[in-house]
Amino acid sequence: MKLLEGKKALVFGVANDHSIAWGIARTMHEHGAELAFSYATESLERRVRPLAESVNAQFVEKCDVSSDEEIASVFEKAGRELGSIDILVHAIAFAGRDQLLGDFHQTSREGFRVALDISVYSLIALARAALPLMQNGGSMMTLTYYASEKVVPNYNVMAVAKSALESTTRYLAADLGRRAIRVNAISPGPVRTLSAAGVSGFKKMYREFDSHAPLGQNISIEDVGDVAAFLASDMASKITGEVIFVDSGYNILSIPLPRDE
Ligand code: NAD
Repeated sequence: MKLLEGKKALVFGVANDHSIAWGIARTMHEHGAELAFSYATESLERRVRPLAESVNAQFVEKCDVSSDEEIASVFEKAGRELGSIDILVHAIAFAGRDQLLGDFHQTSREGFRVALDISVYSLIALARAALPLMQNGGSMMTLTYYASEKVVPNYNVMAVAKSALESTTRYLAADLGRRAIRVNAISPGPVRTLSAAGVSGFKKMYREFDSHAPLGQNISIEDVGDVAAFLASDMASKITGEVIFVDSGYNILSIPLPRDE
């Protein structure tokens, strides 16, 4: 069954074929969606363009989300070339490496500003810019992480950003509901990506995750893609403002114990 036939998706956040956004894009493509991509920097173009071509996407445009001008420009081009969109995928986060290790109380003003600007404000800015292209309603989604709720070593300012991102998701959902636009966040367990590699101690956490999680399995980008496709589809037409975990059940635990103990 193809869930997304006739729908157009604009995907922000593919850096390479390990990106969660790529898992989402590929699954949406399999479900019949027409895809368009935006990438962050010139140096990423040579990785993103071939991926985009492999799912028949014509629209592949640069947009650094810290720039209002670049956001305006990418949506102006999208308006011209795509006419409308039904799905907006925000899979973007950034914090300086020096902010993702050590003492949280050492978080700098600039490190805080940058992390919250790129990882949170960008959702508001992209959502606003997408509105003229979503006159018939649609589905927006972002990617969050459980560190928003419970302390995860070294996530530091990114954890604070994820709390703000989840709140932003709820406020946007309340704001845009009457326009038939749904806004949700997907919260995956650890996935080995470029961004994750920036978090000190991530590898160890990743290695041990499956021994704690109730389902005993790590998360793939395809697992996230499946849930994203569902959220983008009409089957999720009454779901908005939610944080949906794709984490093999990890978040339900209070004290994680390895299975074999
Ligand atoms: P990734 O590195 O593949 O993707 C992050 C993307 O953010 C990249 O494409 C990067 O270019 C983009 N980005 C950073 N700064 C930008 C800017 N100024 N303008 C435009 N784009 C910018 O890593 P990922 O793990 O796929 O991350 C995607 C999302 O998933 C992030 O929000 C991340 O926090 C979230 N997430 C990741 C994990 C994990 O374990 N990997 C778990 C939960 C949530």
